Order: sequence, then structure tokens, then C-alpha cells
Amino acid sequence: MKGKRDYYEVLGVGKSASDSDLKTAYRKLALQYHPDRNPGDQAAEENFKEAAEAYEVLRDPRKRQIYDQYGHQGLEGSGFSGFGGFEDIFSSFGDIFEDFFGFSTRGRGGRSRAQRGADLRYDLSISFMEAAFGVETTIDLDKHETCARCEGRAVEPGTHAETCPHCRGAGQVGRSQGFFTIRTTCPQCRGAGQIIPNPCSACNGSGQTLVHRTVSVKIPAGVDDNSRLRLSNEGQAGAMGGPPGDLYVFIHVKPHDFFRREENDVICQIPISFIQATLGDQIVVPTLNGEKTLEIPRGTQYGDVFRFRGEGIPSLRTGRPGDMIVQVTIKTPTNVNKKQEALLREFAQLDDNKLGKRLKNILKSAAAKAAN
Ligand SMILES: [Zn+2]
Ligand SMILES: [Zn+2]
Repeated sequence: MKGKRDYYEVLGVGKSASDSDLKTAYRKLALQYHPDRNPGDQAAEENFKEAAEAYEVLRDPRKRQIYDQYGHQGLEGSGFSGFGGFEDIFSSFGDIFEDFFGFSTRGRGGRSRAQRGADLRYDLSISFMEAAFGVETTIDLDKHETCARCEGRAVEPGTHAETCPHCRGAGQVGRSQGFFTIRTTCPQCRGAGQIIPNPCSACNGSGQTLVHRTVSVKIPAGVDDNSRLRLSNEGQAGAMGGPPGDLYVFIHVKPHDFFRREENDVICQIPISFIQATLGDQIVVPTLNGEKTLEIPRGTQYGDVFRFRGEGIPSLRTGRPGDMIVQVTIKTPTNVNKKQEALLREFAQLDDNKLGKRLKNILKSAAAKAAN
């Protein structure tokens, strides 16, 4: 076990410090290390407890005398063993905290009143290209933020909350019924244990104001439809010194007229004529990075696929881009003129033998299979 620091040293005061010196010194440390101001900070928590323990001893003349004479061991012999946790500290120093902060940050019942703010959701529509390349944009929203005038304390600056006279700060009132005492939430302070005679004029005593905010959002390249971005601490303000919630931006990617996405590949369909498919050709196709030339080989079939490596959408995780995939479809001519028709019939006659032979073979093997 690590040795305890000297209480005077903890508070940073001399051995002859007066009551008000001690209080001033402790106030400074309590404000600095208050758990609501240092959420999750282990070191601050330790410092907060250490200062509370030092003050608890030194403000009590009897304990101070024992400590001055016998040190930490003397106190252990007298039954004082420090604080178990925050709730101990708050229940022991409730009045002091009210005095320090203008209000008690934690209810006397030991229940924490600081609450994290609610999360916010915002639905953002972006274009296919913005999703592919990323975009920096802003979103406008109305949200509750901690009131600047009263810093969330709900009291008019310069005034204080007062202990509720009805329940004397307990937040609950008891009513005897036969042998039992039934405790209910105090109707005057609604369980808070305190009342605010002068509510803050900017927020009407709620501690929060509704403000219009423009938040900038950086959408990374490669986001997909239905992905979700979290912006920490951009949600609703917390209550009574609690941290704010988060803002979740839900991304909706509008479909593109021409491109379709599959994982990180971009797919498009290009129609070519059956002449181009038969004889081969060079065509220009659109990609995310502009137009590219595509070589159509002779004898290309309907549905054949051509790939431009690395011309797709970058992976969100690795940044490595997918491919651009061009799928060929073949247009069948519809309005052929007399001359074209004559040529096609001539072509068909020339091709007839080959086609006819292939068809005969197919029929023959089908018949053989049926006979077996
Ligand atoms: Zn206010
Ligand atoms: Zn009350």
C-alpha cells in the first residue's frame, strides 16, 4: 500500500491554516478534480478523494488535533478510515458543494443527477460521386446546449439555489400511516432537494437553450449507402453537468443514372451493335475518373465483362480501390431498311449451313439421351 500524503501538503496549506484557509484550498481542488468535470479520469478521481479526505479531517478540530499529534495512524485508531467513494463524499459535504457550485451536483439521496445528453440522428443524402470521392459538407440542426448565461446551473448568475424548505433537502417527504412511514418524492422540489428562487433569465431555469448549429461533416471516400458516422459530443447537452450525447449521421447515397456499386467495384452496362460485337471495335466508356477507351474484341458475346483495374471506389478501410466493370449488351436492330434486310438474308444463307449443322447435332444428341 502506498503511503498516504500529508493532509496539509494535499491541500497545499501550512500547519497553522485557519478554517477559511482550509475551505478555500479545498474548494479550489474540489472544483479542479470534480468528477463531472473529469469524466473517466482516474487520476482526477484519486486527487478528488484525497483532497476530500484531507479536508474532512482538518476541518474537524478533534480529528485535526489527533492528526497533528499522531499522524495517519492516530486517526485509524480513532475509527476514521477515509471515504469509500464519491457518494460518501457528496453525502458528507452536501452543504459545502452547494456552497461551492451554487447547486448540489449530486442529490443527497446518493443518486447522481448529472446525466449524459441524448444522441441525435441526422439523415444526410449524398450523390454517388460524393460517396465515391468523399465530401466535406455542413449540416444544420437545432439542438439543446448548456445555457451560456448560467453555465447549466439554472440559477441566475450571482444567486444560489436554496435547500428545499419542504423536505429540508432530502428530496423526499415521509408520512406516517399506522406503524409505517411512507416516503414520497417531495412535491415542492420534485426530488431535487433544492429550489431555485431566481431561475436563469436566459433559459428559464432549465439550464439549456435551444440553438441552431451548423456542424461540418467530413464524409470519407468510399462510404456506402446506410453507413453511419458518429460525431462525438455533438448531440444534446447533458443535464446538471453531464457530458453531451453524440450525433449520428446516417448516410443515404442517391443512385446513379449509369453506375451501380457492388462492394468497391463500379459496374456499368454498355450497349454495342451486333456488328461491333461480331467484328470488334474501339469504344469510349465513362469511368469514375473520366472517359476511357475500351477495345471490343471480335466475337464478343452478350454479357461479356471487361475490367479496368483500380478504377473503382476506394475501400473505406484500406483505401485500395475496386475495379470498374463494363458489361456489354448487344442491341438488336429494329428498323432495318430493304437493302439492309437483303444483306442480312444473304448473310443468313451463307451462315445457314453452319447453323443448320449445329442444330442437327443438338437434336440428335437430345434424341439419343431420351432413348437411353
Ligand atoms: Zn441559463
Ligand atoms: Zn423538497
